[in-house]
Amino acid sequence: MSDFQTFIGGIFDTNAYLVKARAGEILFDAPTGTLDWLEREKITPGLLLITHGHIDHIDDAAKIKKRYDCKVGCHSDTVPFISDREFFKQFGFFLEPEPVEPDFLISEGKSQEFLGLSFDVSLVPGHCPGSLCFFSRKDKLLVGGDVLFAGSIGRGDLPGGDVDLLIAGIRQKLFPLGDDVTVLSGHGPPTKIGTERKTNPFLVQ
Ligand SMILES: [Zn+2]
Ligand SMILES: [Zn+2]
Repeated sequence: MSDFQTFIGGIFDTNAYLVKARAGEILFDAPTGTLDWLEREKITPGLLLITHGHIDHIDDAAKIKKRYDCKVGCHSDTVPFISDREFFKQFGFFLEPEPVEPDFLISEGKSQEFLGLSFDVSLVPGHCPGSLCFFSRKDKLLVGGDVLFAGSIGRGDLPGGDVDLLIAGIRQKLFPLGDDVTVLSGHGPPTKIGTERKTNPFLVQ
């Protein structure tokens, strides 16, 4: 098991994860309060990777980038969510996150190195366009965003959502990673792929 820490922040109790890599600490997602937590714990993230663009996962992203001058990576479909201040308004959400521009884009693909740690990256839309899951084969650890939760799956009724697409993605891309893989979800406690494959009411056949 790799070395990781969890911070829970914002009104939706969103998880941020800090994973130790060879060349620094990778922060996954930036819910409200993440910057304060990093400062309190005296942690300097070397990189911020965004699983998907929902406001509760990116609220502190701009502040963190400014404070630590760390690079920000996400999928191309995530860019409008995080860089366009007006983006959420077109769907009737009166939210104005501070915009942040990614420094690099991440596509689906195996063996991608971030700060010296290798991840197989899967694109699993259906909850949110551009949703990425980061799998560390070495640590048997999946940072999954809001795709798969302990006993549940991501909502499919938000803009760009499609619950059938989400379920197909989980079956095709996450289940094959192995039953003993630990899933670090965007909300709630960690779980295992095998537990969800066998008992998740949305996924059992
Ligand atoms: Zn979400
Ligand atoms: Zn969320």
